[in-house]
Amino acid sequence: MNNDIEEVLFDQEQIHEAAVRLGQTITKDYAGRKPLVLSVLKGAYLWTADLVREIDLYVDLEFIKISSYHGGVTSSNEIQLVTDVQSDVAGRDVLIIEDIVDTGQSLRFLKDLLKDRGANSVQVATFLDKKGGRKIEIDADYVGFDVRNEFVVGYGLDYAGLYRNLPYVGILKKDIYS
Ligand code: 5GP
Repeated sequence: MNNDIEEVLFDQEQIHEAAVRLGQTITKDYAGRKPLVLSVLKGAYLWTADLVREIDLYVDLEFIKISSYHGGVTSSNEIQLVTDVQSDVAGRDVLIIEDIVDTGQSLRFLKDLLKDRGANSVQVATFLDKKGGRKIEIDADYVGFDVRNEFVVGYGLDYAGLYRNLPYVGILKKDIYS
C-alpha cells in the first residue's frame, strides 16, 4: 500500500501537532460550554479520534454519514444523508469535524441541515482545506492544514474505499487511477 504513494504531504508528527494546536484553540473558544461534536463519516474517523483527545472539555460525540463521492476522484454535486445523527441538535453548539473541505457542498448541506433543526451554533473543524476546489463560498472555522488542489489519500481519506488506514496524507501515483 505504501508503494502506491507518490509524495507524503503531512506525516504523523505534523498531524499530531495540528491536532494539539486546534484542540487547544477549541478548548479556549468553547470554555464553559458542552459542544456536540459531530464527526462526518467515514473520512473524519481518525481526525476525530485524534482531535477530541486534545479538547479538554465535556463534549457529546455523535456521527453522521453523508455521501458525495462515488468512488472516483471528483466530487458529485449531489449530497445524500446516509446515516443521520442520533440525537437532537436543537439548542446545541455543534462542532462539525470534517476530513476535507473541497467544493464546500458537503459543508453547506450539513450547516443548513443543522441550522434547520435549530442548532444554537454550528462551527467546523476540518483536517484539510482545499481552497482551490471551492464552488461554494464557505469556510471552516478551524483548519488543520491547507492543501493544494490535488486528490489526496490517507489518514481517513480514501480512493475507491482504500488507503483510509495510512497514518499520513499523500498523493497517489497517477497510474493507480489512470
Ligand atoms: P466537498 O467537495 O463537498 O467539499 O467535499 C466532499 C468530500 O469529498 C469530502 O468530505 C471528502 O470525503 C471528499 N474529498 C474531497 N477532496 C478529496 C480528496 O482530495 N481526497 C479524498 N480521498 N477525498 C476527497
